[in-house]
Amino acid sequence: RFLLIPLFVFLLSNSTIMGQNTTIDQKVDSLLSLMTLEEKVGQMNQYNGFWDVTGPVPEEGNAATKYEHLKKGWVGSMLNVTGTEEVRKLQKLVVEESRLGIPIIFGFDVIHGYKTVAPIPLAEAASWDLEAIANSAKIAADEASAVGLNWTFAPMVDISRDARWGRVMEGAGEDTYLGSQIAKARVKGFQGDDLSQPNTIAACAKHFAAYGFVEAGRDYNTADIGTSTLYNAVLPPFEAAVNADVKTVMNGFNLLNGIPVTADKNLQRNILKDKWGFDGFVISDWGSIGELVPHGYAEDLNHAAELAANAGSDMDMESTAYITHLVNNVKEGKVSEEYIDDAVKRILKVKYELGLFDDPYKYCNEEREKERLYHEDHQKGVLDMAKKSIVLLKNEGNLLPINKNQKKIAVIGELANDNNSPLGSWRIGSDDNTAVTVLEGLKKYNSNITYSKGPKVFNSDANFLMDVEVNETDTNGMQEAVALAKESDLVVIVLGEHGFQSGEGRSRTQLGLPGLQLQLLKKVHEVNKNVILILMNGRPLTLPWEAENIPAILETWQLGTQTGNAIAEVVFGDYNPSGKLPMTFPRSVGQVPLYYNHYSTGRPNYQPNVFWSHYSDEKNTPLYPFGYGLSYTDFSYSNLEIDSSDQENIKVSVTVTNTGKFEGEEVVQLYLHDKVASVTRPVKELKGFQKISLAPNNSKKVTFTLTDKELGFYNNNYEFVVEPGEFGVMVGTNSQEGLENSFVKK
Ligand code: BGC
Repeated sequence: RFLLIPLFVFLLSNSTIMGQNTTIDQKVDSLLSLMTLEEKVGQMNQYNGFWDVTGPVPEEGNAATKYEHLKKGWVGSMLNVTGTEEVRKLQKLVVEESRLGIPIIFGFDVIHGYKTVAPIPLAEAASWDLEAIANSAKIAADEASAVGLNWTFAPMVDISRDARWGRVMEGAGEDTYLGSQIAKARVKGFQGDDLSQPNTIAACAKHFAAYGFVEAGRDYNTADIGTSTLYNAVLPPFEAAVNADVKTVMNGFNLLNGIPVTADKNLQRNILKDKWGFDGFVISDWGSIGELVPHGYAEDLNHAAELAANAGSDMDMESTAYITHLVNNVKEGKVSEEYIDDAVKRILKVKYELGLFDDPYKYCNEEREKERLYHEDHQKGVLDMAKKSIVLLKNEGNLLPINKNQKKIAVIGELANDNNSPLGSWRIGSDDNTAVTVLEGLKKYNSNITYSKGPKVFNSDANFLMDVEVNETDTNGMQEAVALAKESDLVVIVLGEHGFQSGEGRSRTQLGLPGLQLQLLKKVHEVNKNVILILMNGRPLTLPWEAENIPAILETWQLGTQTGNAIAEVVFGDYNPSGKLPMTFPRSVGQVPLYYNHYSTGRPNYQPNVFWSHYSDEKNTPLYPFGYGLSYTDFSYSNLEIDSSDQENIKVSVTVTNTGKFEGEEVVQLYLHDKVASVTRPVKELKGFQKISLAPNNSKKVTFTLTDKELGFYNNNYEFVVEPGEFGVMVGTNSQEGLENSFVKK
């Protein structure tokens, strides 16, 4: 009888029931009806991999338990198992040995590439190029699916306004509108149009919700925010991902207003599943069900399982709470079996959509594995993405681009010759030390380059799991670098953060250049004023001295495998930079959180001898605002026109002219301000952007259409409202500079 059941499951997934084409929902229902409670709960259980399933059966401990559970069909998913061989073996174990043979879904953090590493997500966001971003996710999916994976824990769609939080590198920055567009692009890139194709994988919008608002930017800390911020700033990118048909959502580690989000029923059942109609499944964050206990929300793991399941967390990542306690919770009436059935249906549905029931080994194609990793097309794709992610912050006297025949170029800085840091954090599938360095990239263009490392900056064995140590004292190498700068015509200096100084658990209280780097920069600048500063970092930095004194600054973030090639193309003028900051750069850490779409105070302006909202030791303005970024050419804006005769489709147009000497791309940005509203609206909010390309002396008329979707907001009852009144409009080159006008919504 047991042998017949897997056969039945197979037939069920491939065929028809009584001559009718069965839908996935019908298949799921039929399969569910065969399952014991233990098997259902098993589908809700995810284990971490990292042990050899081919070796002898582990004798004791955790691994043995996991192995036995796999054979019983008590594991719905594994994470961190990769490679077609490993995946195939494990899948085989489950499909052939468990009673129902339900295939496993294999998840992994494919955050910005698998082997071929794309720029960190924050960098990609700086491109404002949705097509390139979707393509980057597609490349990641292509490689990940070639090593047996079918599910990524990306994109992270957490909005964050706090550069101290190390995980800003994983997101799309501070803005909800930009973040929502990018969320959609990434989901589409990973999932494609047809999830059953062997080169597409299920995406996961994370971390639901408000993880980006952890207090003081300290990772895993509490988030305590008002409803207006939650509804208008935090939730929309998740809703956008759901509308783009994201298959899974991950909750998080944080409390939100006193409730751990993993156990938040209002978020997961009421908002995500009921209000938005999300029909995929929710995965907990790593151990976050277990963390309900130290949070002081659950008595023990048993209680934690009850709370999380009732709140709508469908799958337990590595807490072992569900597999140990959920069956009893159901038997004791603490969790209803309907909730279990709902969770299991969601999980099975995604497995059917991935085509795993048609062929559980469809992602285990050894040929594809050989062919797709590091594929040439992928190199081109991530190079394109990398160029577009670079932001030109300053270019006094047009020091950039450099002439290709330039003599006597000094390249300085440890990071210039580092092939690991530019890969950034969260690229656990990649091989270490595989980035093209800045030095290599530049040397391909010009052989008149001499390199000096300067003083040591970071300990070289830094890794994903360890805090990076920074050298603060040893000045060895400083003199040599300064001497080289002195005798050179031009200095390219590469400074910034180590690749593992941002990412999970990598919060910082200081946002300046780590270690002796600023000291080195000052000394170099003393002897040579022609300095091009190339910044490499995973978050906004505070750079007041640099911005004041260094003539040319390029923000290159961490650009992945093709780092050096992308930077060289920009430095030598083969690509004209077009990126715009997706996060505000503050002047000092004390200003954080500093973001463009803040509220107006009752005392916005300076008046002599009056108390007004400011710091007495710092300006209120950012160093570089949201949306900021220069080009080698100049763009001028004229003729801002608004036609509000059709109130459902208000047209805003502007003419943009390339007034400089280079062809270039410009991100034309539209901001709105609802001047008086029943819930105060921010001073401005991005509501549209278009990236256009213009040859010198050419103009383009750019038109935006505003509908109620752009004009409305969520009130504190989470109702979307559009209120009549005056709206300010600004269209321009960044969040602070543009042409202004207004219209009235009747
Ligand atoms: C992170 C998640 C990640 C998970 C699995 C957690 O620590 O918060 O973003 O997907 O680990 O690696």
